[in-house]
Amino acid sequence: MTIRGSCLCGEVSYEVSGPYPTAWHCHCSQCRRAHGAAFGSYAGFEPENFKWTSGEALVKTYAPGDGGFLFCSQCGSNVAGSWKGKVCQVTFGSMEGDPEVHPDQHIFVGSKAPWIEIGDNLPQNDEYPADFDDS
Ligand SMILES: [Zn+2]
Ligand SMILES: [Zn+2]
Repeated sequence: MTIRGSCLCGEVSYEVSGPYPTAWHCHCSQCRRAHGAAFGSYAGFEPENFKWTSGEALVKTYAPGDGGFLFCSQCGSNVAGSWKGKVCQVTFGSMEGDPEVHPDQHIFVGSKAPWIEIGDNLPQNDEYPADFDDS
């Protein structure tokens, strides 16, 4: 199924199709700062299944390491994530409607903000899940 999403100002939009092998809430300190929130929520996919449908020229990337944050330079919304330069994740917060995939775990819970309680029963990993391949 196709997931569509857009930024706060609406200039940047994307479309991506599954499969979505990862879908998680990330509590790492980078995601917390990038999103200005308790955690960032991302669905992962194969890079070739993703395309910008508008506003690509407005998209900026901040990549402090292998992982990058892609955001609209007009409104600041984090819409996607990259790994080693390839767009491979979109943010749940930017998605339209109720996507086919929902987050199924928490990651980097070892870096969780002290002022948030995780209130669901999803699995919690201190960092990436043990079976995660970050190549
Ligand atoms: Zn925008
Ligand atoms: Zn993170």
